[in-house]
Amino acid sequence: MSWLEEGWRHVWLPYAQMQTAPLPMPVARTQGARIILEDGRELIDGIASWWTACHGYNHPHIQQAVARQLEAMPHVMFGGLANQPAYRLATRLAAMMPADLNRVFFTDSGSVAVEVAIKIAVQSCLNKGERGRTKILAFSGGYHGDTLGTMAICDPDEGMHSLFTGLLPEHPVVPLPTDEASIATFEAFLEREHKSLAAIIVEPLVQGAGGMVFHGPEVLQRLRAAADHYGLTLIFDEIFTGFGRTGTMFAFEQAGVVPDIITLSKALTGGTSPLAATIATDRLFEAFLSESPMTALMHGPTYMAHALGCAAANASLDIFESEPRMAQVAAISTQMAKELEPCRGLPGVKDVRVMGAIGVVQMHEIKDPAGLRQKFLQEGVWIRPFRDIVYLTPAFTIAPEELSKLTAAIRRVLTTP
Ligand SMILES: *Cc1c(COP(=O)(O)O)cnc(C)c1O
Repeated sequence: MSWLEEGWRHVWLPYAQMQTAPLPMPVARTQGARIILEDGRELIDGIASWWTACHGYNHPHIQQAVARQLEAMPHVMFGGLANQPAYRLATRLAAMMPADLNRVFFTDSGSVAVEVAIKIAVQSCLNKGERGRTKILAFSGGYHGDTLGTMAICDPDEGMHSLFTGLLPEHPVVPLPTDEASIATFEAFLEREHKSLAAIIVEPLVQGAGGMVFHGPEVLQRLRAAADHYGLTLIFDEIFTGFGRTGTMFAFEQAGVVPDIITLSKALTGGTSPLAATIATDRLFEAFLSESPMTALMHGPTYMAHALGCAAANASLDIFESEPRMAQVAAISTQMAKELEPCRGLPGVKDVRVMGAIGVVQMHEIKDPAGLRQKFLQEGVWIRPFRDIVYLTPAFTIAPEELSKLTAAIRRVLTTP
């Protein structure tokens, strides 16, 4: 029996109905934008492993940095001891941020980074003696993680709020203020409820897991103005959009809007290891300073600021400086726009849209996502439609010919019913 079949009796897959889930593809290795299967087949990767592997797989600079760190020390606890990669990474991330976004709290996953952002927002109010501000305003279609705290600020249907009533904390969720009606709803809600709110959270420019739905910079400007007016913390969840994906290093740059907290993960280590960061302003940080332990931020994952992960993240930042990543993102954007545009005329297609290195073909409905995924495998590409979209978020290093194979596969699969 193979390791796959043996282990299949014991593993529990993500987001899967295990009764009907097909066996996953056994992977032997990865290289660049390619996934090499055990049977020798090569797939061109259209997803970069859940949007993480921005430099392609197995980038030698990251591999060497991790190997060097592994030899020196894999990790030491972050309480009372300091590892150089983490301190260097905090310094570098703070330098990349505008204004006074200067304090970096490291965790080990995106969801936990958002949990920490929520705690900072709420506890900073408590520390200032403002009681009753315990709610986070979130938006329909949003996604911020799978832990209970973050589920509660996801889209209510996708986050299964009704199923878990009584377990999840309750937070208000309103439509993003994108048009006259939703702006009126948003303004009226804030006017009525602002005293119960600590923060507003949004994925800037793109709601990723909610279906790659784009909104304009003016929406973020409106949120900033509202947060300022009512004294709320504005949280930008850039776990998906951060590190070049939308065409700028961070999405907030395109709106000229600076949040009070930013969360980062996914591409932070270039797809190498789990690591996340919650970056807060000096003003928020100072709200935790006092003579009393009661006002301290009470959070600390065991593997906080993991030294191997931080070494990988530093190496990933080096590569952003030494290789023409943002030019590559611009080229990918142009090529995807040109090569996906013909999908607009295909049966069942509702919309085609591109931002940075995100290409989306939205269908009216995808009835059989599993069948569609199978067809993409037969095309030799790794593309995983979900909800109503077929999308590409390739590595920024993907070759133009490889990208053309991905877009051609989408055109072919959507043409043949
Ligand atoms: C993926 C994602 C998360 C959750 O990150 P995990 O590492 O899976 O916990 C949170 N917010 C956004 C915007 C994401 O895309």
